[in-house]
Amino acid sequence: MQTYKLVVVGGGGVGKSAITIQFIQFRAEIITTTIIIIIIIIGSIIIAVATPPCVSPFGDQVVRAQNQGVALDAAPSFLGMPIDSPRSYFVTDYDPTIEDSYTKQCNIDDVPAKLDILDTAGQEEFSAMREQYMRSGEGFLLVFALNDHSSFDEIPKFQRQILRVKDRDEFPMLMVGNKCDLKHQQQVSLEEAQNTSRNLMIPYIECSAKLRVNVDQAFHELVRIVRKF
Ligand code: GDP
Ligand code: MG
Repeated sequence: MQTYKLVVVGGGGVGKSAITIQFIQFRAEIITTTIIIIIIIIGSIIIAVATPPCVSPFGDQVVRAQNQGVALDAAPSFLGMPIDSPRSYFVTDYDPTIEDSYTKQCNIDDVPAKLDILDTAGQEEFSAMREQYMRSGEGFLLVFALNDHSSFDEIPKFQRQILRVKDRDEFPMLMVGNKCDLKHQQQVSLEEAQNTSRNLMIPYIECSAKLRVNVDQAFHELVRIVRKF
């Protein structure tokens, strides 16, 4: 199976971690949550069957109903991280200084691929890990937030940085405008982003980590760009 080393770069707070974690955690989270819910249901049934008749049948019923309520309510916030809906895994307060790499296997256009993804953090100086990833990275997501024009203005700087490290005139990249759910706060129009996309010769996609819109598409499209390069 082909491995792709992908790097997520962009200004602070644009949603790099939210996008990466939505992409990485989705399946694992749904499977884990489902297993936990099944275990809770089976456990509740076993307890219900095994519990001897109580002095107060009403009291017993109330306690059991409450326990079930707690268990089922608790499941959607696995490991203390909130899940907006059964199809979403959105982190709202991920430590902005954490720089970590993740692995995910998936099928892209019916061809299996293993994605090694570095979610970068921090500003000016490169950490040893990022330096290594920038050098070995095969594709880059250049993320900005649609409600933060200054993060959009930083995109050319990231492109230059990558081209310099790679010592090339072009390299597989995808520009990602995140937080498209915040339409009312939008500071970067589609037209403006598309103009920059043409000028920099980097394809563009809008997404929302919060609503899980175009998250898979962004990573899959980047792999397609790497494959074509
Ligand atoms: P990073 O510094 O680029 O890794 O940014 P984070 O992933 O930590 O996100 C910064 C903040 O933006 C957090 O409060 C996130 O919950 C929020 N955020 C990230 N993506 C989205 C999105 O698509 N929509 C909205 N509304 N908020 C988002
Ligand atoms: Mg982060």
